[in-house]
Amino acid sequence: EETRWQAELREQFPILAAHPDLAYLDSAATSQKPRAVLDAVQTYLTTSNANAGRGTYPWANRTTELLEATRQRVKEFLHDPGPDRSAVHFTGGTTEGLRTVARDWLTAYLRDGDEILVPFTDHRANLDPWLEARQLLAERGVDVRVRALPTQAASGDYDHRALAAAVGPRTRFVAATHVHHVYGGDMNVHRLRAAVGPDVPICLDAAQSVGHLPVRVDDPALDVDFVVFSGHKAMALPGSGALWARNARGPVLRPGGWQGTPNTVGVVSLRAALDWLDTVGPDRIARWTAALTTRLTDRLRHLAPYEVLGCRDSLAADSALPAAQRRHGIVTFRHSDIPSDDLGFILYSHGFMVRADSLCQAGAAEKDGSVRVSLHVYNTVSEIDRLSTVLASLA
Ligand code: PMP
Repeated sequence: EETRWQAELREQFPILAAHPDLAYLDSAATSQKPRAVLDAVQTYLTTSNANAGRGTYPWANRTTELLEATRQRVKEFLHDPGPDRSAVHFTGGTTEGLRTVARDWLTAYLRDGDEILVPFTDHRANLDPWLEARQLLAERGVDVRVRALPTQAASGDYDHRALAAAVGPRTRFVAATHVHHVYGGDMNVHRLRAAVGPDVPICLDAAQSVGHLPVRVDDPALDVDFVVFSGHKAMALPGSGALWARNARGPVLRPGGWQGTPNTVGVVSLRAALDWLDTVGPDRIARWTAALTTRLTDRLRHLAPYEVLGCRDSLAADSALPAAQRRHGIVTFRHSDIPSDDLGFILYSHGFMVRADSLCQAGAAEKDGSVRVSLHVYNTVSEIDRLSTVLASLA
């Protein structure tokens, strides 16, 4: 059943090829790296490693050029329609990117009495920076109200009708998540702009969407002002990531503070990773992981002790649904009798690497003992079938 392109693609991941007995099912935490990315890093370090922006010599100039070329590459990857106005900043990951928006842009933009809407049940990285910004402003005597982005109770998806009603004249900023890191559902962010109105800047946490599905800021339905993502979840090295700012609404983002030496190797890896992803094709990646996700969800649904979190099961069963309604490579579930840690150990004894501890979700769900299986394009049908067989044997 595995198509040939997928088998060839998987061979490009040395760590996977070296461990045929193991199944890596924790890609929402970080992805594995294809040889093209490892080679780009090796080539850079052995031909032109230097600091950026310092040099009168070729290695330094080459490093500076690589940084600038990667900024352009990020814009191109996101289908940026206005690359002359927008900006790309390199970060260590999504957490740092969101914090940069909060600290260096939002605190300069908000005025006393303003209101912001942010997610209270998504990843903590998309809540804490906004609360910190409110605190910073409060210390300067500027009072800002932080309100929860309305969500539908069971799915975690945003409630766009309630959102439209919640947006008022003092609403000045909205933060949202593209794909939820626990439920795996697309949060229907294509409905955000219509719900929020034309003037309010929107910041998108794209940690679980970049590299998994097309993220195109030229799409009028994805009219967001910031896209923040982790390179390391999208085939690049640990400690890499980027923040894209459209700079069309509100002031221009100018990251403050001493920037220091950039993570040049991370940036080099990011460029190679984006090249690799575009060669494979984000649409093809999305179709592959959605099919695997549906296969696993369908099996789990028929096994009594398992509960799949998020209420998109009925949707996920129908792979003919538009991409926006599918789960994207993440299935989080509970066993009625086996605690998540134990289930994690049992699964590893069979060679499956899953996430079985805290999922960093803000709010109550963190307490619920669940196991997360998260996939990328290198995962196979046979991995899903072997996993399903082991899970069935525990039912
Ligand atoms: N947001 C979401 C939706 C995530 O899934 C993650 C990583 N689990 C983060 C933010 C944080 O990313 P990073 O660890 O790269 O800062």
